[in-house]
Amino acid sequence: MRLFEKCPICGGEFVQKEVEKVLKGGSNTAILRVKAEVCLHCGERLYRPETLTHFEEIREKLTTEDVGEFEPIGKTYQVA
Ligand SMILES: [Zn+2]
Repeated sequence: MRLFEKCPICGGEFVQKEVEKVLKGGSNTAILRVKAEVCLHCGERLYRPETLTHFEEIREKLTTEDVGEFEPIGKTYQVA
């Protein structure tokens, strides 16, 4: 199943790739690798509905500090 045949922004071709996604919830940040459709031309990413649901679950956990199952990989800094 493909969400789109062509990119809605530039009309480019999509390929399925594994991409790194950064999610934020509250003051916490999580990085995960997910499959996405990526436009070869402009780099637009499209995620499947179940992936978006997964993002929401992770954001919720970040917001509520329910991060016991996540592996810490260092600190995140804000640079002004
Ligand atoms: Zn595009």
